[in-house]
Amino acid sequence: MSDCLFCKIVQKTIPAKIVHEDERSVAFDDINPQAPVHSLIIPKQHVSTVHDCRDQASELLAHLLIICTKVAKQKGLSESGYRIVTNTGRDAGQTVFHLHFHVLGGRHLSWPPG
Ligand code: AMP
Ligand code: ZN
Repeated sequence: MSDCLFCKIVQKTIPAKIVHEDERSVAFDDINPQAPVHSLIIPKQHVSTVHDCRDQASELLAHLLIICTKVAKQKGLSESGYRIVTNTGRDAGQTVFHLHFHVLGGRHLSWPPG
């Protein structure tokens, strides 16, 4: 998708602080962090939301979740814990319509979310 911000990060036409990359995914630090650790894990392939995924995406989704745990480990969150979030659609406040998992940690995260 030529007008998608995160596709541009995948293509490296806009810069990002990349913390992990493999053949199917990229992880980078959020530009406006909401916690001491705030990274985003995305598929290289453009998918708008998790709600658009079908059965054939199950391997990709599992891969993205495993990468979330690897990034959390890499960021030193194994002991303290962390939160994985994927905002989906308007009411969840999704602003970038390229599937992404937020990994948030490094402080206590309140629950329920706002
Ligand atoms: P969401 O609101 O769940 O769609 O999350 C989108 C996230 O992307 C927000 O946390 C933004 O701060 C983050 N973001 C937007 N532009 C960039 C960028 N160029 N590099 C890194 N993160 C970004
Ligand atoms: Zn995209």
